[in-house]
Amino acid sequence: MANLPSGLHITYQLQYRKCGKPSCGTCKRGPGHGPYWYAYWREGAKLRSGYVGKTQPVGVPAAVVARAEAKVKLVRVPA
Ligand SMILES: [Zn+2]
Repeated sequence: MANLPSGLHITYQLQYRKCGKPSCGTCKRGPGHGPYWYAYWREGAKLRSGYVGKTQPVGVPAAVVARAEAKVKLVRVPA
């Protein structure tokens, strides 16, 4: 898990990521690996992000989790 800053407003998102390996069948067939949780926050003018993992971050409101899960379901995963 990435080192997330404390005291900043962090938003969490569930996302698929492509690993970039040309031989990776997972990325070839679908949207990539995941979904995994990522954290986003601002440091000055910069938008930073950090990998969280497969399990949802601690302390995230249920409404945020539900919204993230609903959004990631819109990504088409071939059967
Ligand atoms: Zn891959």
